[in-house]
Amino acid sequence: MNVIETNHLGRRYRRTWALRDCTLIIPGGHIVALVGPNGAGKTTLLTMAVGLTRPTRGTVTVLGGEPAGSPDALDRIAFVAQDAPLYRNLPVADMLHVARNLNRRWDARRAEDRLARLGIPARQRVGELSGGQKAQLALTIALARRPSLLVLDEPLASLDPVAREDFLASVVEAAADGISVVLSSHVLAELERVATYLIVLARGEVRVAGAVKELLGSHGAGLEQIAIRHLRADVPSASRTEAAE
Ligand code: ATP
Repeated sequence: MNVIETNHLGRRYRRTWALRDCTLIIPGGHIVALVGPNGAGKTTLLTMAVGLTRPTRGTVTVLGGEPAGSPDALDRIAFVAQDAPLYRNLPVADMLHVARNLNRRWDARRAEDRLARLGIPARQRVGELSGGQKAQLALTIALARRPSLLVLDEPLASLDPVAREDFLASVVEAAADGISVVLSSHVLAELERVATYLIVLARGEVRVAGAVKELLGSHGAGLEQIAIRHLRADVPSASRTEAAE
């Protein structure tokens, strides 16, 4: 089953295309690294896939053909936004309670066990957790929804190297449990070790997309070199701006 399919998908803000003419098929069962420089269109693509941003053009479906944002799709996708929205003033246990009331599917045992395993105290206020613990709490809430697809927008940005390792280990564990994962970063090196599928975006356009094994086989170079080569094949910025229709 394909977890995300886009067909000539585009989103324009005023005269600038944040994402343009994006046709992609992302098969399930992967840890997908969506990489590209700041402003490449990563968040725009992800928020359209989870139904938070409306396309200007084209279509996006998820999980075998569900329209993005449909109730069935929302039920089976967990999205953690860039700023991991959490209530800072609540104790962790209350944060879980709020999340439980907001979600139809909720595995309380899974959430509590996970936090205990990570040593995150239920009574501590969310605002007093470290950056790594907050990221793990956001991931725990996402996983407690028992999603088929987990979408994480720049989850590593504010984490130190140890917290990054721990977070990525959790992502690999989720994938081993059968959850397809898409995560974005502007640094491929952060994801290279865990990614099994790579999408490189730049200036709102897909530069390369494919299974890591196949890319490594066909390009005869490391993943970072492949990404850099495609990023350097630059497109004039004028092509991203056009008169509003
Ligand atoms: P970053 O790595 O910095 O988070 P990104 O790859 O996620 O960047 P997007 O956030 O998708 O990139 O932004 C792509 C382009 O769309 C940028 O030029 C950005 O300024 C523009 N953009 C995104 N959201 C909006 C908005 N709500 N209004 C206007 N322009 C926007």
